[in-house]
Amino acid sequence: MSSHLPIVIVVSGPSGAGKSTILQRALVEIPHLRFSVSHTTRPPRPGEREGIDYHFVTRDEFLRLAVAEKFLESAEVHGQCYGTARAEYARAAEDRSDLLLDLDVQGAESVRAKFIDAVSVFVLPPSYEHLERRLRSRGPTDEAAFARRLAVAREELELFPKYDYAIINDDLDESVESLKAIIRAARCRTSRIEPAARKILSTFDPGK
Ligand code: ADP
Ligand code: 5GP
Repeated sequence: MSSHLPIVIVVSGPSGAGKSTILQRALVEIPHLRFSVSHTTRPPRPGEREGIDYHFVTRDEFLRLAVAEKFLESAEVHGQCYGTARAEYARAAEDRSDLLLDLDVQGAESVRAKFIDAVSVFVLPPSYEHLERRLRSRGPTDEAAFARRLAVAREELELFPKYDYAIINDDLDESVESLKAIIRAARCRTSRIEPAARKILSTFDPGK
């Protein structure tokens, strides 16, 4: 078992706000950061890859994993099941990385309860019109699915004050820089630096 305790960074925000886009960029640009690949019962969107964007599973398989307590957290979102496997955290610990999670507001709440030093970030679209446009730009889906996501968006947005940080995703480059700065700051917390700092201190007292 690895002694590394990954920093848990949770990103939430309404569907279409731009979370995946920001996360994908940050993951390429920040070393030692791992994306938590969730399980979901929703069908893949065009371009989404099994095991990279999600683990796409049937409802039966999802239930089997839930009963076997394989999930750190799980929730029903927009009529589909989503869950984070405990193995994702274990893998981040193994390869001495921090863990970046894209979770709905219920998932973020569960993770905050389990990891008191988790860092939470809420991504807001600049406006309702931006959100609607971005949702539609992502490709074809039925009108009912659009309407469901837009209706839920307002309720989710109300919860932004529960998060440590918020990013208004207008300019993509700026949003990516903000997320990178948040992660960098989390890595500089005194609690994270303590073992290294103690070692440095000991060099000032070579006799002991
Ligand atoms: P989410 O993961 O929050 O559901 P996505 O990352 O899939 O959202 O983004 C939804 C759509 O909005 C995508 O087509 C994406 O390219 C676009 N998008 C994301 N961020 C921006 C931005 N800052 N400006 C314009 N379009 C954006
Ligand atoms: P989408 O279907 O647009 O990829 O995601 C829909 C919602 O599910 C988003 O709010 C996303 O953050 C959330 N989500 C994705 N994976 C998980 C997960 O493992 N657990 C929870 N609780 N929410 C998730």
